[in-house]
Amino acid sequence: SSLGYKQVPEEQKSKLVGNVFSSVASSYDLMNDLMSVGLHRLWKDRLISKLNPFPGMKHLDVAGGTGDVAFRVLERINSVSHRAMQGTLPDTEEDTQIYVCDINPNMLNVGKKRASERGYKEDSFLSWIQGDAEALSFEDGSMDGYTIAFGIRNVTHIEKALSEAYRFCQILLVSHGFACFRVLKRGGRFLCLELSHMDVPLFKEIYDVYSFSVIPAMGELVAGDRQSYQYLVESVRRFPNQEKFAQMIQEAGFERVEYENLVGGVVAIHSGLKL
Ligand code: SAM
Repeated sequence: SSLGYKQVPEEQKSKLVGNVFSSVASSYDLMNDLMSVGLHRLWKDRLISKLNPFPGMKHLDVAGGTGDVAFRVLERINSVSHRAMQGTLPDTEEDTQIYVCDINPNMLNVGKKRASERGYKEDSFLSWIQGDAEALSFEDGSMDGYTIAFGIRNVTHIEKALSEAYRFCQILLVSHGFACFRVLKRGGRFLCLELSHMDVPLFKEIYDVYSFSVIPAMGELVAGDRQSYQYLVESVRRFPNQEKFAQMIQEAGFERVEYENLVGGVVAIHSGLKL
């Protein structure tokens, strides 16, 4: 690998991923549009439809740096509540809180800037928090929803991130409380949008050429950074396929785990419920 990624010890992966996203933060949106020919917008819209956001919701978008998912959640909540209340804000809307958590401050800064361009005030419904998906700083049972879009692939220990969303332990009957919950409430929904494995003959070959030749070249041309985009392509190959990832979500404890392939599996949306 051009980044020597395969030789990098696990504990250095976070640092490596950090460097990659620091380097691409400024050209990130443009590259997303170019690489996916604008489709990432539709994929994110689909993610939000599945989440079905509601006024008063507490939602956590992990690896959400640029705010793309968070803005959509807020917009959906606004449209739902306005439709319901015909212009008057329901009380519950006041409680709406969307947390954007990302390990990389540069990505968060891009998101914060975009938030202010959109007219969202600092103390509005959005909070920007720097943190690691593997060790979230949010309280147990505090979130109605958890999304992660194009993020989990970069996390060193995927099971740890899933466990931060789910981990439900046991409650001791009388005292000596042993109660771990982690961030989702009971009934909370986990949704993950991620580049996945395409399995449509012929298209697969075309897609391979596109990923291994066109994307790194595009990265060099547009972002001046071939290596980061080479890393991206390689990390997609290493990521577990749809079935395997669904199994990991189930193993974390989630129920009703399912996934939807988009564009023949170029992208998949996995979902699960914490019941
Ligand atoms: N969710 C956004 C979107 O869909 O446009 C950003 C996706 S971007 C490809 C991946 C993001 O994951 C980067 O902002 C990166 O900083 C973040 N990231 C990588 N590892 C992370 C970790 N362990 N915890 C939290 N965020 C992480």
